[in-house]
Amino acid sequence: MKKNYLSKKAQALKPSGIRRFFDLAAGMKGVVSLGVGEPDFVTPWTVREAAILSIEQGYTSYSANAGLLELRKEIASYMQKQFNVAYSPSTEIIVTVGASQAIDIAMRTILDPGDEVIIIEPCFVSYSPMVEMADGVPVHVQALKENDFKILPSQLEEVITEKTKAIMLCSPNNPTGSMLNKKELEDIAEIADKYDLLVITDEIYAELVYDEEYTSLALINGMRERTILISGFSKGFAMTGWRLGFVCAPEEITQAMLKIHQYAIMCAPTMAQFAAIEALKNGRSDVEEMVKSYRRRRNYIVQSFNDMGLTCHLPGGAFYAFPSIESTGLSSEEFAERLLLEESVAVVPGNVFGASGEGHIRCSYATSMEQLQEAVKRMKQFIEKIS
Ligand code: PMP
Repeated sequence: MKKNYLSKKAQALKPSGIRRFFDLAAGMKGVVSLGVGEPDFVTPWTVREAAILSIEQGYTSYSANAGLLELRKEIASYMQKQFNVAYSPSTEIIVTVGASQAIDIAMRTILDPGDEVIIIEPCFVSYSPMVEMADGVPVHVQALKENDFKILPSQLEEVITEKTKAIMLCSPNNPTGSMLNKKELEDIAEIADKYDLLVITDEIYAELVYDEEYTSLALINGMRERTILISGFSKGFAMTGWRLGFVCAPEEITQAMLKIHQYAIMCAPTMAQFAAIEALKNGRSDVEEMVKSYRRRRNYIVQSFNDMGLTCHLPGGAFYAFPSIESTGLSSEEFAERLLLEESVAVVPGNVFGASGEGHIRCSYATSMEQLQEAVKRMKQFIEKIS
């Protein structure tokens, strides 16, 4: 009999629930998609040009493992200027293959078998699998709709055990768009300090905030030493395909992460790094234009959902609206599947992001105003039909 070559770990991983909907939508014509979690903007031209120039000049070799020093210096001054947090370019920053790889190496660096990481749901679908792939145990806790999908400190305390190593945080959040303010971050910091926990903070949407100023967790008193700050270029700079992110953390942690990064990846793509230098140096006004446009679209879509009876809180950041579909009596999977098959609008059912996402759908408004208006028209029709 043929041997089973697959590891138990690989076999146990479940495919992402988002994929099923993409596959369904891909086989259909005329679909208006609010499904994908990426900017509809093309990367600003000067950023693309910088990569082209680097290729023309023959910069086609590996960079330093941690990334081009010039890029790390730019990241350090950007983090300082933009978010008021200070990291050393030579010892505390690693350029990664997207925020995704930064999360992966963070987990592999801090977890021993059986160590627990608190995952606050609803959340990005990769967190739990990354913990599991690093032999850790994800412990899920539910941020609730009645709290604007923000976790309460008491909820965190309820699930902390002797094995808890870290809390995984994401603000602004995918899929809810909720953003934690300074006071809410201070409450989490207090818990981290009390139980001596690390916090991995995924700040990839930090550029895309609409109402309040953004506060990084690393800025909260005492937190810098227990924070692994992850960010990247995919969302704020419309650079998903370049696969470029970064991680900032105290030297002891980054240097351990660098060992894993060096063996697994060597370095992030060099031409993408040249593009990122340009993005940080001269991309500010492009980002501001994109933020303005997202804000307009957010206001439109959230108002439209509330008008059609789908209660929707105003998301403070990212580019997702997360309306409730509970009033329809359908589950989030039923709603998303029927909306796709009957009205050709693709959204993502909230349950794929965790238990408390049930009763909701994730709608990305990173698409043109015309497409949003068409989606709203079709959704209204659908709601009228089923009510
Ligand atoms: N974190 C969150 C919260 C995300 O939504 C995403 C992308 N959907 C990522 C990380 C991954 O980003 P990257 O393209 O930088 O790997």
